[in-house]
Amino acid sequence: MSLNDSIQAQTSGGGADKVIRPGGTIGVLGGGQLGRMLALSGRAMGYRFVTLDPTPDAPCGQVANRQIVAAYHDVEAAKALAEQSDVITYEFENVDADVTSLLMEQSYVPQGSQLLYTTQHRLREKRAIEAAGVKVAPYAEITSAAQLRTEAERFGTPCVLKTATGGYDGKGQWVIRSLDEVEAAYEELSRAKTELVLEQFIHFDKELSVIAARSPRGEIKAFPAAENIHINNILHLSIVPARTADSIQREAERLAMAIAESMNVIGLIAVEMFLTADGELYVNELAPRPHNSGHYTMDACQTSQFEQHVRAICNLPLGSTELMTPVVMGNILGQHVEPLLDWIVQPESEQVDGVTAKVHLYGKHESKHNRKMGHVNVLAKSVEAAMQWIDASNIWEAKEKQ
Ligand code: AMP
Repeated sequence: MSLNDSIQAQTSGGGADKVIRPGGTIGVLGGGQLGRMLALSGRAMGYRFVTLDPTPDAPCGQVANRQIVAAYHDVEAAKALAEQSDVITYEFENVDADVTSLLMEQSYVPQGSQLLYTTQHRLREKRAIEAAGVKVAPYAEITSAAQLRTEAERFGTPCVLKTATGGYDGKGQWVIRSLDEVEAAYEELSRAKTELVLEQFIHFDKELSVIAARSPRGEIKAFPAAENIHINNILHLSIVPARTADSIQREAERLAMAIAESMNVIGLIAVEMFLTADGELYVNELAPRPHNSGHYTMDACQTSQFEQHVRAICNLPLGSTELMTPVVMGNILGQHVEPLLDWIVQPESEQVDGVTAKVHLYGKHESKHNRKMGHVNVLAKSVEAAMQWIDASNIWEAKEKQ
């Protein structure tokens, strides 16, 4: 039996018994940095990768065995991806519903379509989180400016109006600071032609996130909670361990696992939360994929989020999520690339005692302001020492001006 035949034998059938062995081919819809890091991790384990992305030589295409260059909604290209893959995953959640159903008919998509359907829409997502017994900020579906006024009066200002679909990194939302803004906010966001949702403003102390994984055999594991700092709604730093009580970190991890269990997640689910000063946790958003706030796992945990995702979708036993060292992950946006490259060649860059900075760059051809180009995992004896390195480096010096 050839290796390929043996893979076929292992991958026939479906569900909880189906295992994709190393040697099999993983198809990735989307060829950005998340696909790239997934492929780098999975190739080390012996898997082959094919990715579909419209940009030639995409970050994932550079490290996959093959890239199909086509639009994400191109049905013929999706068929080709299905033919070449033993298992298919995606690196973004706004996957076209027709493409998903075609891939599910013609290939094996263990993550299914339900998870995408739920997480593509804020209202559906909130209901699913509540069904898992987890709290979200009080919210209301909004269908008119008059109703927005009534709900904004009920929640009080500030409150946050969001589009139900299509928003990311703070886009598609309006923080209503006074009732005078109600009409303008409604007019602006209703242009998106999607449902709207109003949320009570949570005066949070910290933002935390937890990434959990679940496999078809039902095994669930969570990575340690990260404390996230955003600038202009874009992730700037992830700090692990989070600077909060152990009991809160464990509770955040428990909530993420409860969501993974209740939603029958296969693969990864990233859970973003608000922590209030009195220790309450509210879930803000979910992402059914590897997440920027989990990049710290690549150098600081026994298993990275990318390896864990491969293990989960291939139905291998999940790896240990244990944290091996304190870490601060810093995002490298377009404006940080030159300062980073200048800094890491300086001897001072390694002069903080016991600090090792691991640089990851995504191979994007064009560097633009605020475009995610890479990240640095600063490993240190303590979070404080890693933060000292971050402060001493000139990489994010201009951050106040961003
Ligand atoms: P989102 O697009 O939902 O991830 O929101 C982007 C950012 O806006 C979050 O990381 C928060 O900093 C802030 N934000 C969103 N919703 C709320 C809320 N209900 N209360 C307070 N801040 C919020």
